[in-house]
Amino acid sequence: MSLPSPRFRILARAGAARRGVLETAHGQVQTPAFMPVGTHGSVKACHPDEVARAGADMLLANFYHLALRPGVDLIEQLGGLHKFMGWSGSILTDSGGYQMVSLDHLVEFDDDGVTLRSPYDGSQVRLTPEQVVSGEVRLGVDVAMVLDHPVAFGSSRELAQAATRRTHLWAERSRQVDAGSSLVFGIVQGGFEVEQRRESALRIGELGFDGVAIGGLVLGEPAPVRFAAIEACIDCLPAEVPRYLMGLGSDLELLTAISQGVDMFDCVLPTRLARTGTALTRSGRLALRRGQYRTDPLPLEPGCECPACGRFSRAYLRHLHLAGEILAHHLMSLHNLHHLGTMMAEARAAIVAGELTSMIGDRVRGLTAGSQDPAAAASFPSPGRPVP
Ligand SMILES: [Zn+2]
Repeated sequence: MSLPSPRFRILARAGAARRGVLETAHGQVQTPAFMPVGTHGSVKACHPDEVARAGADMLLANFYHLALRPGVDLIEQLGGLHKFMGWSGSILTDSGGYQMVSLDHLVEFDDDGVTLRSPYDGSQVRLTPEQVVSGEVRLGVDVAMVLDHPVAFGSSRELAQAATRRTHLWAERSRQVDAGSSLVFGIVQGGFEVEQRRESALRIGELGFDGVAIGGLVLGEPAPVRFAAIEACIDCLPAEVPRYLMGLGSDLELLTAISQGVDMFDCVLPTRLARTGTALTRSGRLALRRGQYRTDPLPLEPGCECPACGRFSRAYLRHLHLAGEILAHHLMSLHNLHHLGTMMAEARAAIVAGELTSMIGDRVRGLTAGSQDPAAAASFPSPGRPVP
């Protein structure tokens, strides 16, 4: 770890919310930050330069998938992941614990590591916490996530406790790996019980990682359970390092978590929704399949500065989507990434100006007034701590 300290500076606060800057080997990441997901080394259907123009300083790629295909050796031989995928900004890699749980019929966890069967060629693969972090470092990533063991919502208390204990054991071992110029983030588990969450946050927080992620959420739990768990973690995590909430992506949930003190996010939602013909807008989700857009000359969101809205109508994009044209995926993905990139920039400015509460209020009112998806606003989650 040769970078100057501190790597994370908090520039302003509004209640529990923070506006900060994370310095990586590839530049600055302005927080709160949303990281588009490029699981296989590509944000689906988007050129990296366009992803950067949508406001992303950092991408998330997946170590587990990249290690299985095309392999760490090949990427390292070709100059590292940044060069391989033509991205000059920062990269964070997830270790793959989440994917292993979602493919649990292929995976066996034990205290030393994980044995899994590759979904690509059926071969048996063994991963240990040390191999995961050193593999991420060999890819040349800016932030390496440690190997963890999440559990799905509805798992037994015993399983959650065992997985959390194992996550702590692995975190301690991961901490011993020489990470060079890569930052290493620990991951809090603890299942869905507040007390276990607090214990896990304290334990991971005291290991001195460069940042800490809240993992093991967005795994099927109801929103109140999710936000109570986030609250418990934030209360127990060190204030001076970035906090990253894994897998959360809807507008109001992101804003709620920002107001709770979370700094970084990732989610497949914007690009996945785009491929179903759904646009994220200030008035909720706009599903182009609906007949009302057949002759609609408006852009997806009037005033949006993305490459789709500057030039194309809802009617044309709807036609492309229904005709199965790849351009629809491309343009819709760029719009959705711009939407979240813009929202994050507004949140950062609002924290500095002391106006986060009114900014969130405006967003909630927009969703409530919008005809597209009033249900989204009605389900706005209420965190345990009032919005500052
Ligand atoms: Zn747009």
